[in-house]
Amino acid sequence: MIYRAEVLESRPLTPSAHMIRVEKAPGFAYLPVQFCGLELVTSAGGVEYPMSLASSPTQEFLEFGARLSSSPWKTAFAALRPGDEVEIDGAYGHFVLDTARDAVFVAGGIGITPLKGMADYLTDTQSPRHAVLIYGNRSQDEIAYRKDLDRLEQVNGNFTVLHTLSREPSDSGWTGRRGRIDAALLQDAASRLQDPVYYLCGRGAMVMEVGQALLRLGVSRERIAFEVFRGYS
Ligand SMILES: Cc1cc2nc3c(=O)[nH]c(=O)nc-3n(C[C@H](O)[C@H](O)[C@H](O)COP(=O)(O)OP(=O)(O)OC[C@H]3O[C@@H](n4cnc5c(N)ncnc54)[C@H](O)[C@@H]3O)c2cc1C
Repeated sequence: MIYRAEVLESRPLTPSAHMIRVEKAPGFAYLPVQFCGLELVTSAGGVEYPMSLASSPTQEFLEFGARLSSSPWKTAFAALRPGDEVEIDGAYGHFVLDTARDAVFVAGGIGITPLKGMADYLTDTQSPRHAVLIYGNRSQDEIAYRKDLDRLEQVNGNFTVLHTLSREPSDSGWTGRRGRIDAALLQDAASRLQDPVYYLCGRGAMVMEVGQALLRLGVSRERIAFEVFRGYS
């Protein structure tokens, strides 16, 4: 389905990431959580980028979150205001939650978008399935959707977030985990769950690194789902 949607909300997520909410057209359906083509009017003309939905099919709106850059599309995305229009083409993709099994979500940076939508879905449907999100960022101020994730943890007793920061200054007061997502953290998450499926999302290098760590831990390929955000180096 392709339709023009009105922007309902537009705000920064972090100093380097931005989100928008747009109208969901009647009859627009998607699985938790696919991606859409999002076409914007940019300084280089109309440009469409693939963008994961950061919302859940249970919600009345569609949401997208993007890491910013100086590209024409990103500049146009950050400049969107309520009342502007965008073009939605979707939904596509096979990065979809298996609602019958526990889940380990592994996100690097803005790769959180579809996984946040999956966590929304599990919460809104009061799923009995347990999910642990491992969320890796460079620093505290780069954690996108931090308040939303805190809220989901509070209202959904089956959902846990494990943050880890790779470049947080040592004197910042951060008392949580530090370092990259590694085998020990993956094992910690899995130990809280029963035979989980792993959902990896982020840039290619991160997805590859975590996928290989899982294979080395003996996780079978059929239990590893991934979405690679092409376009990031
Ligand atoms: C399935 C899927 C879901 C994605 N979901 C998200 C998301 O939720 N949030 C997010 O921030 N990013 C997401 N991405 C990546 C996004 O589509 C962009 O590729 C990425 O954000 C880099 O954009 P940029 O303009 O900053 O890149 P730049 O490095 O500045 O772009 C360099 C050049 O490459 C071109 N280019 C870059 N990416 C693409 C592309 N995908 N298609 C066509 N031309 C391109 C640009 O026009 C520019 O000329 C997703 C990608 C895929 C495949």
